[in-house]
Amino acid sequence: MLPVLEEGEAMSRPTYAHVEGTGPAGEYCQSCAHWTRSAKNPAPFRRAAMVCAVVARQTGLPLDRLGTVYSHRPACRHWQRKGTGS
Ligand code: SF4
Repeated sequence: MLPVLEEGEAMSRPTYAHVEGTGPAGEYCQSCAHWTRSAKNPAPFRRAAMVCAVVARQTGLPLDRLGTVYSHRPACRHWQRKGTGS
């Protein structure tokens, strides 16, 4: 039986584009061109969370609705070198 979410209960946010470790060995989310800030202008004294732009494209959600991507998560198969375009 599937769990029922109560109204207002937090749902998990989409976070990663694919399975960790399916990208190039020795690379991480923080070295990926798709690792980006969730907001261009965060509130004063607040840092924008880092999220995955591929997940935004996959889900159609805005960046600020995605989960925070851990910087040292092993790269997934969508990993792309920074500066090589998207
Ligand atoms: S390696 Fe890149 S594409 Fe894959 S989850 Fe991390 S930031 Fe997203």
